[in-house]
Amino acid sequence: MNELLKRLGLSQMASALPRLLDDARMQQLSYEAFLRQALEAEVAGRHERALERRVRAAKLPRRVRLSTFDFSFQPTLSERLVRELASLRFVETATNVILLGPPGVGKTHLASALALQAMEAGHSALFTTLSQLAAALDGTNARGGRAKSLQRYVRPHVLIVDEVGYTRLTPEQAHQLFALVTARYERGATLITSNLNFADWGSLLGDEVLATALLDRLLHHAEIITINGRSYRMRERMGGDSVERAGNGDGSKSISAGE
Ligand code: ADP
Ligand code: MG
Repeated sequence: MNELLKRLGLSQMASALPRLLDDARMQQLSYEAFLRQALEAEVAGRHERALERRVRAAKLPRRVRLSTFDFSFQPTLSERLVRELASLRFVETATNVILLGPPGVGKTHLASALALQAMEAGHSALFTTLSQLAAALDGTNARGGRAKSLQRYVRPHVLIVDEVGYTRLTPEQAHQLFALVTARYERGATLITSNLNFADWGSLLGDEVLATALLDRLLHHAEIITINGRSYRMRERMGGDSVERAGNGDGSKSISAGE
């Protein structure tokens, strides 16, 4: 039987079959109910594998979720707005999300969690940092090559460009970024995290006029979320909200507790 299932490409059903048969015998399932369960195992298995493939292709730095985000730690952040984003309407309407704030306030966490949620709903996503993106778009001088690498960033339903502000772009890279934002305009949702004010984008791109045109497209349909809070990383280093532990130099050991 395994052989037949494999020939039909029903590998998920094949691996679930011993368990399904046991269950069917124990529960004395009808033929119809058994067949339905077997087919459902194949469909669920395929869905799971497709999701796994999408998530791997997205290159998220970590698979974090909104459920592990402590909103009470960031009172300036609107939980209501983040929950609304989690409904994923922003993906369907190609609305951009700009997360602004100092290091450690959860920008990458929030962007990654929204992307993961979007992938679970069947969307494609891709995570990159601005410096990786700039290098990729810069990479080849062959025109065909560059058009192809641009396409890689245009295609995903959700594109995260993390850490905008740590890398100054060359004029060529700035034009490539502008081309990307233009190509994604009203087509895909771009999530940007940055420690910069928009006023500083001119010096980031090395061109005030280009920066204005880029921000015009980027912000036309966008939610801007500013987080003015404490760094969660520092909180972890300090040992949480508990009493300060003086001189505890290796407090970093507890950093990944709770993950
Ligand atoms: P940023 O991108 O703003 O520098 P990160 O998203 O990388 O910050 O957050 C730093 C670390 O702290 C990550 O491990 C993240 O999961 C965690 N973190 C940040 N804010 C929160 C929060 N409010 N609740 C739970 N974990 C958080
Ligand atoms: Mg970050």
